[in-house]
Amino acid sequence: LKLEKKAKGKLQKQICQVVLDHFEKQYTAELGDAWSSVRDVLTSPWCWQYAVLLNRFSQSPGLESSLAEQGYHPAFPAALPYLPAAFRCYTRAAPGRFPAQKHQPGRLKEYYLLNAASLLPVLALEVKDGEDVLDLCAAPGGKSVAILQCACPGHFHCNEYDDLRSRWLEQTIESFIPDPFINLVTVSKLDGRQIGDLQPEFYDKVLVDAPCSNDRSWLFSADPQQAVLRLMQRKELSSLQFQLLRSAVQALRPGGSLVYSTCTLSRAENSDVISLILSSCSNVMPVDISGMARGVSQEFTLLSGMQQHELLVLPEKGRAWGPMYVAKLKKVS
Ligand code: SAM
Repeated sequence: LKLEKKAKGKLQKQICQVVLDHFEKQYTAELGDAWSSVRDVLTSPWCWQYAVLLNRFSQSPGLESSLAEQGYHPAFPAALPYLPAAFRCYTRAAPGRFPAQKHQPGRLKEYYLLNAASLLPVLALEVKDGEDVLDLCAAPGGKSVAILQCACPGHFHCNEYDDLRSRWLEQTIESFIPDPFINLVTVSKLDGRQIGDLQPEFYDKVLVDAPCSNDRSWLFSADPQQAVLRLMQRKELSSLQFQLLRSAVQALRPGGSLVYSTCTLSRAENSDVISLILSSCSNVMPVDISGMARGVSQEFTLLSGMQQHELLVLPEKGRAWGPMYVAKLKKVS
């Protein structure tokens, strides 16, 4: 109890009331009863959990046994559809974070700490060796690193519009990917909305991990005035997300597929954006990911009633993963 109190004290951050009030209204309407348990997790950072994604390019012999000693177990069932053999990720029910590794030039990191739900879009993308892959909004690079744990793309284009974040992305790639493989990776600083025009029908797979109202971090906005401004500009995000998706569709070869993801619960930025792209692009079809959703339902709490091409992970105590929305689409012609 003493330890828990200490951890609570250390992680006590100031909740931004204006954001909480806004979410309370919107998410009660959209999620019904499920919202109150999600809210309990989002507003209690001392309950947050972190998964440990191992780097297949730099393995330390004692790491897995040390994780097991601390109560970690594989995050995904071995029989899960799309789970590549080399992909190893560990979670545990207890909150807290495994010690992070510092960036050391010339030295590869052995693992990446992340919200386990962030791996679902990557697994849904089902990247195979030799495929040309675009990560449209890539910084800081957690999902880019995860994609390279799954397969060895023919060419892997990681893009990030923001200058500072793009440098962060480069550093992440350097810290995880060794020499021969790093040559497969290109990092660019383009506006993702333009890549479809610049490289039409170029990629087999595209990940659109879109900028969104990041529910977890918005709740702890330090500046209430900035928070109010963000809430007012929230509608513009849906339009940016739609344009990024349209660009991703253009960048796909016929037969290629894309995964769209966000870390918000907001329907306007999730299902509504996907419905709009499906209704406005006649060459795009939904892809069924309900097999994956069933396969991960032990570790993740999913909102029921979603369509077969989408899922929404709801944070819950002891399974504090998400929020994470994932949808998969295919370009047919
Ligand atoms: N995929 C990343 C990961 O797993 O580490 C997280 C991506 S974050 C949700 C969205 C990113 O999109 C932000 O880094 C943001 O700067 C970037 N972004 C915003 N507008 C963009 C645009 N027009 N084109 C490309 N990236 C953009």
